[in-house]
Amino acid sequence: MSFNKTKWVWHNGGQVLWDEAKVHATAYGLHYGAGVFEGIRAYETESGPAVFRLAEHLDRMYKSADIYNLNIPYTRDELTEAITENIRLNDLKDCYIRPIVYFDSGSLGIRAVTPVSTTIIAWKWEHALHPDKKKHGLRTTISPWRKIHHSMMPSTAKSTGQYLSSVHAVQDAVKRGFDEAIFLNAEGNIAEGAVENLFIVKNNRVITNDEQSSVLLGITRSSVIDIARDLGYHVDIRTITPDELFKADEAFFTGTAVEIAAIGSVDDRPIGSGTSGPVTSEIKDKFTKIIHGKDDHYAKWLHYEMTTV
Ligand code: PMP
Repeated sequence: MSFNKTKWVWHNGGQVLWDEAKVHATAYGLHYGAGVFEGIRAYETESGPAVFRLAEHLDRMYKSADIYNLNIPYTRDELTEAITENIRLNDLKDCYIRPIVYFDSGSLGIRAVTPVSTTIIAWKWEHALHPDKKKHGLRTTISPWRKIHHSMMPSTAKSTGQYLSSVHAVQDAVKRGFDEAIFLNAEGNIAEGAVENLFIVKNNRVITNDEQSSVLLGITRSSVIDIARDLGYHVDIRTITPDELFKADEAFFTGTAVEIAAIGSVDDRPIGSGTSGPVTSEIKDKFTKIIHGKDDHYAKWLHYEMTTV
């Protein structure tokens, strides 16, 4: 697997060639995982590429940065312009966008205050998971590794170092032949997938958890909550036990990379019918229309080149 390389990467204030977007080996963020980032998608629409919920992603990035005392040296308008310019220059119709802000090279003392660097990479990344797996239901496993508790690291911040736990859990799941790992939290309840929030459906109610369960507050999660309510479903936000997951009628993941992906089984026990259930499919169909600009009610979630955030 490799990148669909583009020509330009935005790096510290300007567009540089892909091969020149480099970080020094002494970068503090490389050694200590001290950075924050976002994962955003832009989708093809009749009016050109539209960035999905850009304002919310930027909000989360500034909040994550605040938590770790990273002063992003650019305004939201500047980053908005940087993202849209990069998409335009690279002639991307749809793409994944990865802004990252990190303590750069200066010193490696743990108390060091180093310069802060900001990089934005956009590239075509159609499928984070095989489309068939997404359609028919992922084979998941409960990770033997628990999710870092929110009292240990702020789970609502999307920080680079935190992802070592996701990398580790996915490596273990893949080694055992599964598509994705599900974390329990320190209390033994469901937290989330390695890089996704988790929903269950029971008796036509849609259920997900929140930061009390040590999860990242996903932007797809919040979109799905709104969509499900607009479709007339009752949405409960509360703890989910492993037992409830096993007995659910349906379960699915949400996240920018995977979008909405049905969970077919957990540790080889089928969830519901073992494939994408009717509620999951209904929400997913609505989501697909929205991201491609085919539902005016949600037009405010799309950022086109000319809109301001
Ligand atoms: N949880 C974790 C740990 C994640 O990495 C992600 C991906 N950002 C999500 C949930 C889903 O968040 P979003 O919908 O904002 O992509």
